[in-house]
Amino acid sequence: MYTMHPAEFTYHRPESLDEAVSLLAQDAESRPLAGGHSLLPMMKLRLAIPSALVDLGRIPGLGEIEAEGDGLRVGALATHDAVARSDLVRATCPVLAEAAVLIGDVQVRNRGTIGGSVAHADPGADYPTVLKALGATINVAGPDGEREVHADEFFVGLFETALRPGELVTSVQVLATPRGSGAAYVKHAHPASGYAVVGVAAAVSVAEGACTAARLTIGGVSTTPVHAAQAVETLAGAPSSAEAIASAAEAVAQALPETMGDAYASGGYRAHIATVLAKRALTTAFERAA
Ligand code: FAD
Repeated sequence: MYTMHPAEFTYHRPESLDEAVSLLAQDAESRPLAGGHSLLPMMKLRLAIPSALVDLGRIPGLGEIEAEGDGLRVGALATHDAVARSDLVRATCPVLAEAAVLIGDVQVRNRGTIGGSVAHADPGADYPTVLKALGATINVAGPDGEREVHADEFFVGLFETALRPGELVTSVQVLATPRGSGAAYVKHAHPASGYAVVGVAAAVSVAEGACTAARLTIGGVSTTPVHAAQAVETLAGAPSSAEAIASAAEAVAQALPETMGDAYASGGYRAHIATVLAKRALTTAFERAA
């Protein structure tokens, strides 16, 4: 019978990362719990039936946001709200805060975490698109120790990541946006949930009026965010202009793989929205770079 109650599970509240990793290693059917905003609904619908939850909420330091090297390390437990409000994020990598502000609603942003979002790998999530555009690194820890996974390799498929059994996301690392570079994230949000029907991230660099590098990443149209590399090929090396941006955006639909559709938006509609948002994201990114 459909009850909206999760199946029974054991609840663990480790006080350290090592304890969490060891609890997860002991039971292949256990799952980490962060903000619970994706996991708990799935459990209520019995789409996930974990034998145990390992609550990461008491692990010291896991939610910290700190400057590191040429960039920023955002702890896995940092909530969307913490990222959106962080002066450090806004000063160092403002596009990350820009994406965080657009996630769901106040309640979701107060509980949902960056680690939970990337680990869940929802095709409608916002962070994965931005992190891929920024060339971010996802730091993970597990029974075999720690490792770093580039965002391009982390998002593998629909709700599927490169995380190995028992591994946890510990933080996300991004480089600071330097002078002469700009990035922007824009989305068409689902009117009910706020998830990205399509989300587009652009990151560009400009020197002496000419574009030296451009990255355009599209989320929501396929199982994982995709780089529309072919579409922005013509931008690099050329003076940045409204015409060049418009022509790159027009090429986005052809640069996309097979598009996904659902009752709200067909694949073709999503591809069209992607071209519209690509123009907006590129225009804003170039304005910021200047
Ligand atoms: P949880 O729900 O606790 O966990 C999600 C999954 O990740 C689980 O499988 C869990 O085991 C695993 N996990 C959690 N943390 C870790 C970790 N550190 N390492 C490894 N695995 C881990 N998202 C958007 O991007 N954009 C939106 O507009 C948006 N709108 C939403 C609207 C609503 C109404 C709701 C309920 C959610 C929405 N979300 C949206 C999703 C939200 O951002 C979730 O918070 C996020 O997807 C999961 O983060 P969490 O911390 O809640 O993770």
